[in-house]
Amino acid sequence: MIVMKFGGTSVEDAKAIGRATEIVRGRLKEHPVVVVSALAKVTDQLLAIARSAATGDSKTALQLVEAFSQRHYEVAGELLAPARFTQLREDLGRDLGALNDLLRGISAVGELTPRTTDQVAAYGEILSSKIVAAAFSTRGLDSCLVDARACTVTDANYMRAAPLIDDTNERLQKLVAPLVDKGCVPVMGGFIGASKAGVTTTLGRGGSDYSAALVGAGLSAERIEIWTDVDGMLTTDPGICSNARRIEVLSFDEAAELAYFGAKVLHPATVLPAIQKNIPVYVLNSRNPTCEGTKITARAPKSRHMFKAIAVKKGITIVDVAAPRWLQLDGFLKWIVDAFARHSVSVDVISTSEVSLSVTVDTNEGIPSLTAELAKLADVKYEERKAIVCLVGENLRRTPGVAARVFRELEDVKIHMISQGASEINLTFVIAEEDVARVVERLHRAFFSDRVSDMAA
Ligand code: ADP
Ligand code: ASP
Ligand code: MG
Repeated sequence: MIVMKFGGTSVEDAKAIGRATEIVRGRLKEHPVVVVSALAKVTDQLLAIARSAATGDSKTALQLVEAFSQRHYEVAGELLAPARFTQLREDLGRDLGALNDLLRGISAVGELTPRTTDQVAAYGEILSSKIVAAAFSTRGLDSCLVDARACTVTDANYMRAAPLIDDTNERLQKLVAPLVDKGCVPVMGGFIGASKAGVTTTLGRGGSDYSAALVGAGLSAERIEIWTDVDGMLTTDPGICSNARRIEVLSFDEAAELAYFGAKVLHPATVLPAIQKNIPVYVLNSRNPTCEGTKITARAPKSRHMFKAIAVKKGITIVDVAAPRWLQLDGFLKWIVDAFARHSVSVDVISTSEVSLSVTVDTNEGIPSLTAELAKLADVKYEERKAIVCLVGENLRRTPGVAARVFRELEDVKIHMISQGASEINLTFVIAEEDVARVVERLHRAFFSDRVSDMAA
C-alpha cells in the first residue's frame, strides 16, 4: 500500500485532476490511498473571505464565496458527466450553503476565532476531495471518499493542531484499511482533522504533506509520494535562483532541516511519521511524472558535494536582549526563555555572549508585548526584514573548513548571526532580506555549478 498526496497546483483545475487520475491509475497495483490539498490558492482565499466577514462586511465575503463556488462547479462540470455532475453539485451546494451560514455568523459577531478560522479553511479540502473522488470514479477508478475529519484526530490547538497518533491510527485502521483491502482507492483531504470532541481543526499551513505522512505511518505504507509542481526537492528555492537543480536522495534529517528552514515544498513535520516507521518519502512532479524526483530515506548515500541544498526563510525578526550587569547569566537565560514561552513566540536561531542574547523569530505576533516585558529588565532591540539562510548536508559533519569557504564568498555581505546546529548537518546564518538573491546566487554558483549528480562519484 502507498500514499499519494497531490498538492494545490496538482489539483488546480480539471486538467491537473486529469493528470493526477492517470498518475494514480499507473499505481493501482500498489494500492494507493490518495490525499489531496485544496485547489491552488483556495486556502488563501478562504482565509481572506473569513477576515472580510469578520470586519462585518458579509456582502463582500458572500460575493467572494460566489466566485469561489463557481470555480469549483466549473472544475467539477468539466470532469464529470451531466448526471454525476448534478449529484455532486447538490452535495457541493450543501457545503457552500453551510460555509455561507458560517460567514454570516462570523460577520454577525464581528469576530474571527482560531476555531472558526479552521472551520472556514477546511472547506478547501472538503470540496477538493469530493471533486477528485468523483473524477476518479468517472474515469474508471474504483474510488471512495473518506472524510479526513473522521480519521485525523488532533488536539484542539486550532490553526496548528497536533495529531493524536494512537487515535488517528485506530481510525485509519478502522475506516481506511478495509477500503484498501477491498481494492478501492480512498480519497481524503489533507490539512484537516477534528478534535476528539469532533470539532474541525487544521494542521497548519502546508499541512497536507503532514497528513499524507500520518496516513502513511498509520497504515504502514511502503512509501509516501508527495506530488507537487517541481521535479523534487531542489538545491535551492527555484523562485530565488533559477539554476536550482533536483536533489536525487536526501536523508530524513537533511529533508527535515531544509523544510524547517524554508523549503516550502515539504511541510516541516512531514518526515517525523515517516522516520518512526522508516517509510521512504518521494517528492515528485505531477507535470513531469516520469522524472524520478527526490527520494528521502533514513540514509542517503554520501554526496561528493560539501552540502546538498540551501534553504531560505524570509520574514525573520532578530530580537537582541542585553542583560543588566547585575544579573547572573543563567538566571538571565531562564528569564528570557520563560518570557518567549509566555508570549508563545518560538525561536529559530540563537546566539549568546556573556551579557547578551540574540534570537530570531519568524513572526511579528507577540513581539511588541514580549519586548515590552523584556524591556522592564534589559535593553531590547528588534530588527525586522531579515532572512535565515541554511546550508544543509550530512557532509558538513565531516568536512573541515566549510564555514571559511562559505564566508569567503560573502566577504561583502553583512552577516547578523551565525549558528551551526547541534545536528551538525546545517550551517545557518542571518542576513538582510534584500541580500538574499545575491547571496543565494553566489553560493549556488560557488558550490553547485559543477554539479552533475548528488550521488557519490
Ligand atoms: P504544493 O501545493 O504541491 O504543496 P507548495 O507550493 O507547497 O506545493 O511547494 C512547492 C513549491 O515550493 C515549489 O513550487 C517551489 O517554488 C517551492 N520551493 C521552495 N524551496 C524549494 C526547494 N528547495 N525545492 C523545491 N521547491 C522549493
Ligand atoms: N491547503 C492547505 C494550505 O494551503 C494545505 C496544503 O495545501 O498543504 O495551506
Ligand atoms: Mg505544500
